[in-house]
Amino acid sequence: MSLVAGVVAVQGNVSEHASAVSRAGETYDERVEVREVRSGGVVPDCDLLLVPGGESTTISRLVHAEGIAPEIRSHVERGKPVLATCAGLIVLGRTADERVDCLGLLDVEVERNAFGRQRDSFEARLDVAGLDEPFPAAFIRAPAITDAGACEVLARVDGRPVAVRQGPIVGTAFHPELTDDARLHRLALFDVPPVTQ
Ligand code: GLN
Repeated sequence: MSLVAGVVAVQGNVSEHASAVSRAGETYDERVEVREVRSGGVVPDCDLLLVPGGESTTISRLVHAEGIAPEIRSHVERGKPVLATCAGLIVLGRTADERVDCLGLLDVEVERNAFGRQRDSFEARLDVAGLDEPFPAAFIRAPAITDAGACEVLARVDGRPVAVRQGPIVGTAFHPELTDDARLHRLALFDVPPVTQ
């Protein structure tokens, strides 16, 4: 069987996610065909969706301008898996700051660049619910989740949620695509009940 994975490619870490989702699929003997999403019309054909990190102000502006935003919404409404990382988490969330036009698909309130200058970028071995061993998580000007609303919290740093799940969406404040470890992509995109339509 072959699955189509869309990577929102208006800005941000696209190729790393493309290779991580392909590697994650191999574990399941799934051939994954990756499509870059730069405009409307691609997401409706996707089984899986990745919304990468980058700059949330730019990504949110472009997904609205390109007609991708309503397609992400219907992908979620159909229960299809989404992995949203860093800026992607911010864009899918409920509220960030006035510069980001959030989609409100994930019930989180976030504080952008929350880990401060000293810890602008850092790595942490994170305990993630659903993974047996700690995950090597890269944080780059990462947001913190200040209110996880109805989400299940999967991981925390200093007590603050940094990975959540709500329905078909997994959101992380860190960058799972920047390691060789594809377990987070598996957890979010493949270890879920298949959607039949
Ligand atoms: N600081 C960025 C923002 O707020 C997110 C950083 C990232 O995606 N690595 O949009």
